[in-house]
Amino acid sequence: MKKPRKSEDAAEPGLFGAALPARPAGAAPGENPKRPLAFSYSKLSLYEECPLKYKFKYIDKIKEEPKYYFAFGNSIHHALEFLYAVKAPPFPGVDELLEAFKKDWGLKSYLEKGYKDPGRAEDDYRKGLEMLRNYYRHHDGRFRLPFLLEYSTDVEVDGLLVRIIADKIEYLGKGEIALVDYKTGKDVKRQPDQLHMYQKICELDPRLRERVHSVYGEEVPGVRIKQMLYYHVPTLKEYTFDRAEDAEIAVFWERVLGVAEKIRGLKYDPTPGERQCLWCDYKQLCPHYYGGRARGAAAAQAPIPADAVEELVDRYGHLREKMDELNAQIEEVKAKIVSLSEGAAAAAGKKYALEIRRSEKWEFRDREAVIGVLNEFDLYQKALGLTLKNIVTLMDDPAVPAPAREKLRRHAEKSHVFDLSLRKKQ
Ligand code: SF4
Repeated sequence: MKKPRKSEDAAEPGLFGAALPARPAGAAPGENPKRPLAFSYSKLSLYEECPLKYKFKYIDKIKEEPKYYFAFGNSIHHALEFLYAVKAPPFPGVDELLEAFKKDWGLKSYLEKGYKDPGRAEDDYRKGLEMLRNYYRHHDGRFRLPFLLEYSTDVEVDGLLVRIIADKIEYLGKGEIALVDYKTGKDVKRQPDQLHMYQKICELDPRLRERVHSVYGEEVPGVRIKQMLYYHVPTLKEYTFDRAEDAEIAVFWERVLGVAEKIRGLKYDPTPGERQCLWCDYKQLCPHYYGGRARGAAAAQAPIPADAVEELVDRYGHLREKMDELNAQIEEVKAKIVSLSEGAAAAAGKKYALEIRRSEKWEFRDREAVIGVLNEFDLYQKALGLTLKNIVTLMDDPAVPAPAREKLRRHAEKSHVFDLSLRKKQ
């Protein structure tokens, strides 16, 4: 049977993988100061995105919808793990590699993987095969036995029990290692934060030192990161980072401890925003959903007889149909007025008068591409709290680099909207 891919979110592991005793029922993380807080990079980034989202996921334990991009990434990771998991060369052939991907892909239906339609899942399946073929071709003849694959460890430090999972670790000798993290999503500029977490934890991990001894027979005082890289499988690009300076790690660690402190203090204030709320699975539960409305708990719970619901549903449907029909007619008449008025600011009939205002409207169809541009130019943090209107403002901001503005414009579509305000004549 296939070994499930490990998750940084595994339920509160004990030191060196042993299970900790179960948390007393109802106890929150801040209530037992003697017990280390289970932590990971995923937790850090989710809390920083929105503390309330963190609470829904990790404290209330409400499951998120399956995400197709995670399912896709997991199958690619699984195939690459299979490729390198030999005791000694030869490595599997390309057909065996593709077979490993197919097998893993076939374990779940497209719905279980998080796809809405089978066509999209089929497209990704073909994309995955192509990606792995390219990977194999690119590295064929240069495969090297890694030191460790899918290395998972839990290290206790500063009151935290931090879990990391490293995709691949190479041993460079004299206690030095290089760490590889595969990425399968969009090719965006990535900050080295996740790698900082790897560096901090790997260098504190006594198990790694023991593994060096058992595999290579070397007694080393400790393990030191020499290099870390994000390997973007779809483009075969490597983004290499040298070992971070101690001062840089210290700043990162202050950030981690700051977040951990807030979690212990049960601080889960929401930080709603267009981007984070759009992709949030908890918006139906969340009264702070950006652009949404608080759902009245009383209204949601009031008992309504079944036949009344039937009648109301039909009435609602009928009214919606009428409204859609009227809206279509209004839009048609409005367009004719605008076109016949030829830029005039007002128009009048016998009974009504209109004021006509013209304004620009921008739309971004490909949100991910826009987020990619913001990342590329380090505007991401700024954008976290930005509305669509403010992203449009960025495009005209001389303080934003010209290439960033140009790229944003490429993803933007401008149209004109006309606002008609109606007045009844006396
Ligand atoms: S909907 Fe928005 S504010 Fe609410 S939990 Fe999700 S991200 Fe946070």
